[in-house]
Amino acid sequence: MLKPSVLHKLKTIVGHEHLSTVPEELVAYSYDATQREALPWAVARPASANEISQLLVLANQERFPVVPRGAGTGMSGGSVPTEGGVVLSLERMRRILEIDEENMVAVVEPGVVTGDLQREVESRGLFYPPDPASHQFCTMGGNIAECAGGLRAVKYGVTKDYVLGLEVVLPTGDVITTGARTAKSVAGYDLTKLMVGSEGMLGVVTKIIVKLLPLPESVRTQAAFFLSVDDAARAASKILTSRILPRALEFIDHAALRAVEHYLKEDLSDGAMAMLIVEVDGPEETTARENSKIADIMAACGATRVSKADSASEREQLWKVRRSISPALYTIKPKKVNEDIVVPRSKIPDILREVGDIAKRYGILIVNFGHAGDGNIHTNIMIDESELQKAEEAAKEIFAAALRMGGSISGEHGIGIAKAPYLPMELKPDALAAMRRIKRALDPNNILNPGKMFSPGD
Ligand SMILES: Cc1cc2nc3c(=O)[nH]c(=O)nc-3n(C[C@H](O)[C@H](O)[C@H](O)COP(=O)(O)OP(=O)(O)OC[C@H]3O[C@@H](n4cnc5c(N)ncnc54)[C@H](O)[C@@H]3O)c2cc1C
Repeated sequence: MLKPSVLHKLKTIVGHEHLSTVPEELVAYSYDATQREALPWAVARPASANEISQLLVLANQERFPVVPRGAGTGMSGGSVPTEGGVVLSLERMRRILEIDEENMVAVVEPGVVTGDLQREVESRGLFYPPDPASHQFCTMGGNIAECAGGLRAVKYGVTKDYVLGLEVVLPTGDVITTGARTAKSVAGYDLTKLMVGSEGMLGVVTKIIVKLLPLPESVRTQAAFFLSVDDAARAASKILTSRILPRALEFIDHAALRAVEHYLKEDLSDGAMAMLIVEVDGPEETTARENSKIADIMAACGATRVSKADSASEREQLWKVRRSISPALYTIKPKKVNEDIVVPRSKIPDILREVGDIAKRYGILIVNFGHAGDGNIHTNIMIDESELQKAEEAAKEIFAAALRMGGSISGEHGIGIAKAPYLPMELKPDALAAMRRIKRALDPNNILNPGKMFSPGD
């Protein structure tokens, strides 16, 4: 709990109206998309790096935890204040500061919603490719902290590939800038890359410089349904080895399809067992040629139906299926344990088979969908509250299978609290110890987002 004198100092730093201890508000900042929750002692909504710096200096003096928070859409519990303290919400820092069209660079505050930046740059013929499925509500600060991926990663990479530089308030309150506004800069250690993916544990990101690309001339989307997961996986693999690089290649399994059909009250697939959504972009003639080649490949791999989207609204219809999965899954079971393993993409059929075997062995439903183009499959273990233990054991087997195939336990959602117990399955003790030393060097009092990523005794 915070002493009244500390609360008073916090109010002086961020302004009385921007510091709350009202119970209803504390609840609103207590959870993220993992459904895990813990109440903070207070919520602070600063408006500048300077206020954040003062707040962190106070936190070091008084030894209270500070947990940065964007939109709370995280899938690993990163913004959940498991040790109490102050949730530091970046919601007031939401200005797009600059779009430098000549140098194709944007500068934003961390609370900018990713989709807002995308729309703004697209209105000027520019393109910010990282595209988490949550782009309509997640923030750029959260994307940096988690190194968010998304639908277009197969062609364009992930958040780290676009961040040129940052302004960061270190856990001790020092404000630093990293990187540069240029395409090249090798001056000193690459602190930008260290901060990207650091899950709000090494600094609070207060300004972000990202590079932009020219907006592709055209985008074409199509979807296909298959009678088996193997056919769909074979089609995905054939597309990628046919010298076409789609900007999105999404896979949806039969359980996810049934859930979406139930949720949307529509028969979308005639009972198909798998669906692929494929999107290409580029010059008109190229996308037209690639689109029909992809349709041929999918038909040759046994697609029962291929639907091409000829208008923006048809495109929207196809993507609606993908976007409806998350809410639809809650109509199956009240709880889902969402994992985001990644494997070399040639191993997708193997991992899907193995996940199927694990589901049978444990007698639970596991729904699979995700970014087939980059091998990143979201395995959702659907359970009742009483089945949590079983789900955790199944998850551990899924991680072991992904690692055996040369993959990783998390493609884009991060470690947070959800995967902290499993991180030692992937990282050797020396690597974990090096990470802990970095954390201690930057945050000697363990103020910023404590209790995340590392389990006690790692
Ligand atoms: C329906 C749905 C779909 C999703 N799809 C994808 C997807 O396709 N790809 C993907 O990668 N993720 C996806 N996610 C996960 C999530 O949206 C991303 O991890 C996103 O980057 C989190 O952003 P946020 O603003 O909600 O951050 P939060 O959840 O608020 O925080 C996430 C982490 O970032 C830290 N943080 C937040 N802001 C800052 C800051 N300014 N400085 C330092 N640390 C900070 C927090 O402490 C926490 O550790 C999805 C989530 C949902 C609910």
